[in-house]
Amino acid sequence: MLGLDALDRLATVDKPVWVFDPNRQRHAWANEAALRFWHAASNEELLARDYTDMSEGARARLAVTMEAHRAGRSTRDLWTLYPEGRPTWTMLHTSGITLPSGQQGILFVAEPSQEHNPDMWRSAEALMHMPVLATVHRLDNGRGMMRNPAATLALGSIEGDGHLQALFVNPRLAQEVTDAARVGRSHRCEAQLNTRQGARWYIVETHPAWDPVTGARVVHLSALDISTLKQAQHDLEAARAQAEQASLAKTAFLAHMSHELRTPLNGVLGMLQIALATPLAPQLRSWLEVAQSSGKLLLTLLTDLLDLSRIEAGRMQIEPVPVDLHKLVDETIAPLAHEAAAKGVALRCSYADDLPPRLSCDPVRLRQVLFNVVGNAVKFTTRGHVDVRIELRDAAPGAPLLHFSVSDSGIGIASERLGHLFESFSHAHSGTARRFGGSGLGLMLVKRLVELMGGSVTIDSVPDRGTTVCWNVRCAAA
Ligand code: ADP
Repeated sequence: MLGLDALDRLATVDKPVWVFDPNRQRHAWANEAALRFWHAASNEELLARDYTDMSEGARARLAVTMEAHRAGRSTRDLWTLYPEGRPTWTMLHTSGITLPSGQQGILFVAEPSQEHNPDMWRSAEALMHMPVLATVHRLDNGRGMMRNPAATLALGSIEGDGHLQALFVNPRLAQEVTDAARVGRSHRCEAQLNTRQGARWYIVETHPAWDPVTGARVVHLSALDISTLKQAQHDLEAARAQAEQASLAKTAFLAHMSHELRTPLNGVLGMLQIALATPLAPQLRSWLEVAQSSGKLLLTLLTDLLDLSRIEAGRMQIEPVPVDLHKLVDETIAPLAHEAAAKGVALRCSYADDLPPRLSCDPVRLRQVLFNVVGNAVKFTTRGHVDVRIELRDAAPGAPLLHFSVSDSGIGIASERLGHLFESFSHAHSGTARRFGGSGLGLMLVKRLVELMGGSVTIDSVPDRGTTVCWNVRCAAA
């Protein structure tokens, strides 16, 4: 590249010639004609002018121009300059020059320009300064015809591999764009483009058009960089997958632990049962009975936990088989009937007349739900009754629902607690666990099981009057 000292003989030529230092954003040298062109009072005044407020687009254009210089090329282009503050369109020759600092500068030679259509000039300027990449390609062979500075900076010069096909990481997308343009259609896609920094994500839009110079069919392509967005999206997905994985691992651990804990606990309970069947001193018997009831409570808690974690992990299967409904209900509530009778509470059960004797449903899970709800009703009722009612309702033709309701005349639940009862470890009354026993997992498990069986649960209650729990499950004729 030339040095500034080579410019001496241009000092007096009639064309404005000047050197710009892009690092300092100032003029570094100017001849007489350039001083007139820039309306400068003196050489010092021009060199002192500061251009640090130059737009991003103008900087990009300068960077592209300097790249051409480094590749040994000069350029000839229309620029908008503001010598007096007003835009002046000027045809500028540019070439590279080495500044006294050793850094690269730009040598400009201005040519008086002809008049231009202002609208054309505005759109050309907007295109030149736009951060969106804009390229034009021939439709027949994909060859690059034009790139705006943003596209040249991102993708490299058009003299390189400027083909439409070479732009896309995925060749199928390049084909889709070309196919759409051939039938006169625009195309929009998210695509990875081969940039100088490797593959980056863009929103790419293409439109078929005609080249105003040759009349050939061309494709206009614009691309907006969304790599940062894609990266954020990718990080978020990775974080979600990791969180899901961690949650699954926790659920699996919980299921495993509750299973492992049940085995020794069953051993303890078995031994307690054997010990209690032998003659014992009254004090010792009462201690062992406390140990047995605590052990049973712990077993219920572990079983509930195990079931819940199996549901969470999606490993709980509903297995419908033909079931004798009366028998199932009677067997389930029989142990609770004893408990109720001991407190003077009437546990009554009624069936709708049209209830078929056999139905297809999952007896194990149905029993579990019924035992939990009726168990609660008996537990929280000290006088009066617990009524269990079973009916068949048609949700839709051919899709019968087995409907249960359990009403009690017990202590009831305050309305503000009702909404929270299906959460884990939730008690409606302070000190419930101490006074009545219970894990606080029962209703949550009921809800999840009923949902697995294709139904839903509702709970209504009036404090000191009683509670009604209703639920339904899908069933089929057996
Ligand atoms: P727990 O195993 O403690 O009974 P549940 O999830 O089955 O847990 O019930 C949660 C809480 O809801 C109970 O502790 C109790 O406070 C309240 N509850 C449930 N059923 C009734 C009922 N029939 N009458 C009054 N309170 C009830």
